[in-house]
Amino acid sequence: MRKHLIKYKVTTWYMIVLIAIVLLLISSILALSKQYITQEAKTELNDEVNDLCKKFLSCDDILAEIMNLHFYDDGVILSIYNKEETLLDGIHPDDFPVNLTFSEGKIREVKENENFWLVLDQSIINQGRKYCIRGVYTLNLIDGMTKKVISYMLLMVPFLIIFTAYIGYRLIQKSLEPIFFMTKTVNNITKSSDLSLRVPNVTSKDELGYLSETFNYMLKHLEDIFNREVQFTSDAAHELRTPISVIISHCEYCLSDLELSEQVREELDIISQKAVRMSDMVSQLLLIARAESNRFKPDFEQTDIRLLTETVLEELQEKADDKKIRLKLNCTQQEVIINCDFNLMMRLLINLIENAIQYGRKEGFVDVTIQCDNEQCLIKVRDDGIGIPDEAQDKIWNRFYRVDSSHSAENGFGLGLFMVKWIVTLHQGTIELKSSTELGSIFNISIPM
Ligand code: ADP
Repeated sequence: MRKHLIKYKVTTWYMIVLIAIVLLLISSILALSKQYITQEAKTELNDEVNDLCKKFLSCDDILAEIMNLHFYDDGVILSIYNKEETLLDGIHPDDFPVNLTFSEGKIREVKENENFWLVLDQSIINQGRKYCIRGVYTLNLIDGMTKKVISYMLLMVPFLIIFTAYIGYRLIQKSLEPIFFMTKTVNNITKSSDLSLRVPNVTSKDELGYLSETFNYMLKHLEDIFNREVQFTSDAAHELRTPISVIISHCEYCLSDLELSEQVREELDIISQKAVRMSDMVSQLLLIARAESNRFKPDFEQTDIRLLTETVLEELQEKADDKKIRLKLNCTQQEVIINCDFNLMMRLLINLIENAIQYGRKEGFVDVTIQCDNEQCLIKVRDDGIGIPDEAQDKIWNRFYRVDSSHSAENGFGLGLFMVKWIVTLHQGTIELKSSTELGSIFNISIPM
């Protein structure tokens, strides 16, 4: 699984932003509501204490008035003291410090043992006597409520975040799905070299829809260019075929004349050899053009690959003898039957073994090993020749690519390994090269059974 996919990145950032917003929102709601409730409590406390002060100021007998008083109103608890600060009547909240000294006219916040109160003291003079009125508002309730809200939130928020993150992830995944299909199609095109494939059309008129349209337009354009090139190769090869055949047949005709001078015979021989080479190249080009236009239909049949290799080795024995190269087949099975196109498989073996001889060391060796089990057939062609330099190893599969002239045979075209790769791919196999300029080259081919 790839960790750096956009869907993971976006979901992570989205979650971080979401958590930050939720935390900011909760803390500001709590701070504001606490401030609001405290403000309300202060107003209430002020009103209740002032109301009582007014009532006492206008009455004749405070002590008689006290008898009819309610000491608890709208959350405010009231008490009355004389000028010596002795309690005359009234109540206190539980745990309130009864000996708290008076502080005239200003709302104070008093805290003790986790309890929290707002306190307002106000003094009045009635009939020459001083009285003190104390109002207390318990804030524990607000604190308790805040704590409850926080714990509830802490419990809920993780679920909320996981849920929203999941929904966000699914939405991003859904909206990025077309990119996944586009990547898959592009990979398929790379693997199969089939430029007729198109990325699925995204119906939406958004950026992805536009991207898929652009992709398909580009693929169509590439396919056109490619088809034109293949068509040109095919046409050129066709046009060359006839004149080359004419040259070859005329050379043969002239060579049959016994009265020819030795020098003319030699010249005609050279012309004939070059024409045969050209004819070979034209055949290969035609085959490649057919292969690349996907018009080629392989003719699969049960083939004894051991027998075929023996035949190819026999055919190339003379070339090997010229360089005193030892040709050898290693195969423990009497017959190895695989399902393949006979002609193409023969072309593959010729190209590889011919190269091994051509680029092999004088008095060296070329070993062909065949090993098959129920799943795959492994063909290994090994030589102890000049090898292929590291920097050229990726390029030798390209059309017309040849390592520099000191490495390449005079009569090559640079089409041999391109065809080998194409034949292997057509048989759904793989080919791998191990080569060094000191030890020579090994081509490992694996064809599924
Ligand atoms: P060519 O017709 O030139 O042989 P190929 O496609 O068969 O074309 O090979 C491409 C190039 O790869 C050759 O020019 C040669 O330099 C190099 N090459 C191929 N096979 C071998 C080998 N067995 N050892 C060394 N070099 C090789």
